[in-house]
Amino acid sequence: MKILVLNCGSSSLKYQLIDMKDETVITKGTYERIGMNNSFITVKQDGEKIRIEHPVKNHEKALKFVFEDILMGKEYGKVKSLSEIDAIGHRIVHGGEKFKEAVLITDEVIEKIKEVIPLAPLHNPAALLGIEACRSVVPDMKMAAIFDTAFHQTMPKENYMYPLPYEFYEKYQVRKYGFHGTSHRYVSGRVAEIMGKDIKDLKIVTCHLGQGASISAIKDGKSINTSMGLTPLGGIGMCARSGDLDPSVVTYLMDTLNVSTEDINNILNKQSGVLGISGVSADFRDVEAEKDNGNERAILAINMHNRIVAEYIARYMVSLQGLDVIVFTAGIGENQIRIRKGICDELKFLGIEIDDEKNSIKGEEIEISSPNSKVKVFVIPTDEEIMIARDTLNLIK
Ligand code: ADP
Repeated sequence: MKILVLNCGSSSLKYQLIDMKDETVITKGTYERIGMNNSFITVKQDGEKIRIEHPVKNHEKALKFVFEDILMGKEYGKVKSLSEIDAIGHRIVHGGEKFKEAVLITDEVIEKIKEVIPLAPLHNPAALLGIEACRSVVPDMKMAAIFDTAFHQTMPKENYMYPLPYEFYEKYQVRKYGFHGTSHRYVSGRVAEIMGKDIKDLKIVTCHLGQGASISAIKDGKSINTSMGLTPLGGIGMCARSGDLDPSVVTYLMDTLNVSTEDINNILNKQSGVLGISGVSADFRDVEAEKDNGNERAILAINMHNRIVAEYIARYMVSLQGLDVIVFTAGIGENQIRIRKGICDELKFLGIEIDDEKNSIKGEEIEISSPNSKVKVFVIPTDEEIMIARDTLNLIK
């Protein structure tokens, strides 16, 4: 059984072909700058990274190239015919309240994904481009939709409502949805496996710290709270996103700067967070380097980041009524040793303790807490693609 996982952005298309027999990645690649003159694809397979310049007008042409010239092509081919691929799993960012789990894609599902576009105006249209491209290039292929929001649909109402007039929820679906659900689900399941415990017996906080970052509280194997909100802008301050603010900051800035919603969205999504505070970069590696040079704003940016993550962990101890294990994942969670240490040091008073030697590892599954720590701490590299492939396989079985 082979499943193709697709993740489409407005000008990009990422794919992974996974052999479900042993859950290995046969080949993967990323098409970038779709619709521009200089589009290219990077293919990673057999330990090699190949870059092919091949301008394409749209996602359909990109996907056609991926199927015909890469996956089934003479030079790079990994399958002889389409029949070797059993299904395609699409990553969809926003499922609103309409999708509580992964589903097979039908006309009705596509309509429902369209209805959620106002909640994810950048992300859902891109995913729909991918679905439409597949319908045109491989019309007979079974397809599934896997939503970033679905895992968080188990949150109790008191954790997902905003204290706004109730009718805004009823009329406009304004509530907290949460994102990175596939990642939180993967690492929480994996940590239970590694610990040799039933996930239902664990109170877990998962910290997905990448460009986008969110913290989740998981009890009985279900998400009961998460930091992102109506959109992936909410929660903790991130690489370049502001996270939660006093809402008056937004209206005050719009009035003072006399800017449009588009401009303020741009400021909050692309010029804020660690980038905004440090003025250095949205990449933690650069900000850490500047911190070492004594740059005060870089130091402030990192201290603010670590403080808010630690505060969320402590806050979710209330939602969970306890805490057994913390998991760090994604680019920063997997690789930034000093960030993990900084966050856990803020939680020392709770008896949470890191073993510095174990914490010196990057990008591997490892327990980094010391034997005395009251809460276990793990690093678990996330694997959203394998979850998407598993969900897709379950649906077509
Ligand atoms: P995305 O959310 O776009 O998938 P990532 O999860 O890759 O992003 O997170 C990007 C962040 O992770 C960067 O700010 C960078 O600091 C950090 N990061 C990624 N890889 C490494 C690495 N090998 N070493 C240190 N930091 C890394």
